[in-house]
Amino acid sequence: MEDTIVAMATAKGETSIHILRLSGPEAEKIINECFVPRNIERWARQENFTLNLGVFRDENRVLDEVLVGRMLAPFSFTGEDVYEINCHGGIFVAQRILQSCLRHGARLAEPGEFSKRAFLNGKLDLVQAEAIIDLISSRTETSANLALSQLSGGLSKAILNLREGILELLAFIEASIDFPEDEVDELDRKTLESRVLKVLADVQHLLEGSKTGKILRDGLLTVIVGRPNVGKSSLLNALLREERAIVTDIPGTTRDEIRESVSVGGILLQLVDTAGICESNDLVERLGIERTWKALETAELILLVVQANHPLTEDEHHILSAHSEKVIVIINKIDLLEKDQHVSLPEAGIRIPFSVIQHIGFEDLEMAIRTRVYQGEVVGAADPLLSNVRQISHLERCFTSLEQGLLSIQQGMPWDILSIDIRQALQYVSEITGHNVQESLLEDIFSRFCIGK
Ligand code: GDP
Repeated sequence: MEDTIVAMATAKGETSIHILRLSGPEAEKIINECFVPRNIERWARQENFTLNLGVFRDENRVLDEVLVGRMLAPFSFTGEDVYEINCHGGIFVAQRILQSCLRHGARLAEPGEFSKRAFLNGKLDLVQAEAIIDLISSRTETSANLALSQLSGGLSKAILNLREGILELLAFIEASIDFPEDEVDELDRKTLESRVLKVLADVQHLLEGSKTGKILRDGLLTVIVGRPNVGKSSLLNALLREERAIVTDIPGTTRDEIRESVSVGGILLQLVDTAGICESNDLVERLGIERTWKALETAELILLVVQANHPLTEDEHHILSAHSEKVIVIINKIDLLEKDQHVSLPEAGIRIPFSVIQHIGFEDLEMAIRTRVYQGEVVGAADPLLSNVRQISHLERCFTSLEQGLLSIQQGMPWDILSIDIRQALQYVSEITGHNVQESLLEDIFSRFCIGK
């Protein structure tokens, strides 16, 4: 039997309230030893989903006046009896209540242990559990919406449908294996082939959407590049001023060259610090320029800022031709053009006439970025999009196994060989939602949660 765990669910520090979570078979016993409700009769009725005012006491001392939320198994987050103790915000009070729960038989929860129990008790699958981590770390409205839609189970359903489809393939193969080879009809082979093709198309569809999903979750690695003085810093500052949630500090990121993140049109741009591009004799400057060229290679989006009344330089032409599919050209300072002077537009890339100073072009830039991310598709928040690297890589492997299976069918391989590939595909798709997963994978996933979650 599982033991009973406790943890603070709120961040440490001084705040108006702290919440402690207690979950497990002993939760009720522990709470009854420490909590004295003001309305004893109501408490005794054991009504589920109630908030109860009272005092928390231990060793005959009142520790705090608290509100205790009661969520009984199986209708709680973890699927076990859960009590949430809302106490006053001082860390000292919360710590004393935590200590009390420990003394009365609870154990301090590991990071993510509440969510792990929810998973083990069938309240969540892995896709939903990972959506919780994403929801907590969301930095734009769009990524939060994506995580919420995954949490609500739409994506899990799509994955389960795939799993069903693959199980049906296996059932079909197993049924055929029971007959001697010469009795297996050529018709069966054709039927199986078309069924595998159908499942492959579904997997492909999900994989296509995952490109958008991944960008919505992680943002676009973006470089702002251009000659000195074209207005790069002015543009960056304007974008930073525009947005409501500025994030400069990204904990846990390995992309240490990222200086700033900014949300444009709901899409997170992870901006890589870059120098201007121009020929230079200064060594330090040259190193900076070399870094810029390298950054352009790895960037997912390039904002090339050029000046409206200047012809394009060789470097600018070069960037455009080498990276046309990911460049947005910002033709800045159109306010400086004479009345009858027209913006000279480069041939490649998306081009936006712009003036940072007169605030012209920002909406077009938002549109251009959104078009780039959604690739012309209208994706609603409710669409099941994969965004998590672990899940995507499992789906890719599933796709490869199915392709291998298809090849074996077309080459006339025996049915028991086919079943190996299809079984492999089943294993990969099952690991996405957490059917048949190993304990080490669970530990890896849930240890990324914070304590109390
Ligand atoms: P950077 O070297 O590319 O980062 O360029 P800055 O952002 O420092 O801008 C260089 C100069 O151009 C500054 O004096 C800005 O005020 C000016 N500037 C930036 N954007 C515009 C614009 O849209 N119109 C005009 N007229 N000046 C601009």
